[in-house]
Amino acid sequence: MYAPPVQRLITELSRLPGVGGRTAQRLAFHLLRADDQEAFALAEAIKEVKQRIGLCEVCFNLADGSRCRICQDERREPDLICVVEDPSDVISIERTHEFRGRYHVLGGALSPIDGIDPEDLKLAELYQRVQAEQTREVVIATNPTTTGEATALYIAEGLRSQSPRVTVTRLASGLPVGANLEYADELTLGRALAARRALPH
Ligand SMILES: [Zn+2]
Repeated sequence: MYAPPVQRLITELSRLPGVGGRTAQRLAFHLLRADDQEAFALAEAIKEVKQRIGLCEVCFNLADGSRCRICQDERREPDLICVVEDPSDVISIERTHEFRGRYHVLGGALSPIDGIDPEDLKLAELYQRVQAEQTREVVIATNPTTTGEATALYIAEGLRSQSPRVTVTRLASGLPVGANLEYADELTLGRALAARRALPH
């Protein structure tokens, strides 16, 4: 129906989350109408972000260089680690201004049906960090979903055997069950963080 380059653009756009076939088509036609400068700016931004942004060598948050800004910030509490699934969750928690520690980004949640096993997440790195940095408390802020809860329990158990002295806490309820942290408003998420509870240890 379309010339191959147009079809290719629509196919690529439709892979984006939340973009269905119709939206992809609409965006593609917008780009075809746009002047070269606007369209190339988008292409260039995508290229630059993929070339320059990698994962922090300490916490696996997104980083422009070897360490992310939070790991570079000397004022952050060094012995408090908040474990999240994705880099977008770091942004959500930062917006609450309730947390002054550091992060550890797992890169997802355990989900055997989707083939996501413990070794696919940055779990060994977390256990190693907690031991090396003599962490006082680990706040588990995985999503309040089935996979997020399973991941939280798995981590609590792992820490119990590997670093029995560390306190392990979980975000308090109040978060919408089944939703992702990135959709929680700042107030709810801030309260959940302030009222975090200890996991059986
Ligand atoms: Zn970092």
